[in-house]
Amino acid sequence: MHSAAIAIGSNLGNPAQNVRKAISALRGVGDLTAVSRLYRSEPWGEENQPQFINAVVLISTTLEPRELLTALQEIEREMGRTPTYKWGPRIIDLDIVYYDDISVDEPDLKIPHPHFRERSFVLVPLAEIDSRYADATAALPDPVGLQVLE
Ligand code: AMP
Repeated sequence: MHSAAIAIGSNLGNPAQNVRKAISALRGVGDLTAVSRLYRSEPWGEENQPQFINAVVLISTTLEPRELLTALQEIEREMGRTPTYKWGPRIIDLDIVYYDDISVDEPDLKIPHPHFRERSFVLVPLAEIDSRYADATAALPDPVGLQVLE
């Protein structure tokens, strides 16, 4: 079994419902050992778009990293995600934050996910469910701007 953290984000349609739907779909990919609350965050990178809803789950899975990436992309496709521009609006975005303690640096797969430690919309929900990151949010430049949805 492998342990991975998956970051979930959505800012199109009904984002909270999309995030909950993705969490349900992830139950088919492995055992969810922890699920964060849902957070509302300001758009990152490209600011002229709706707010995001974000969450992080911890998953215990037999899938190897690339199999896991394929499974996440399959869920994105099934939920109707169509390609937009980098940092643009999306129905659903699923990212592997970490996978055990491995490092992958390939063009289409980077683990740990680059810059996740600087992104409050990943780190704050992660810190809520993974005690190893409990203190990491103190280093965030601005954790404010992130609201708990439920
Ligand atoms: P995005 O538009 O942010 O969902 O980026 C999608 C692309 O990021 C995909 O083509 C993936 O191959 C690539 N990618 C690289 N590293 C990761 C990762 N750790 N988790 C998910 N996607 C990744």
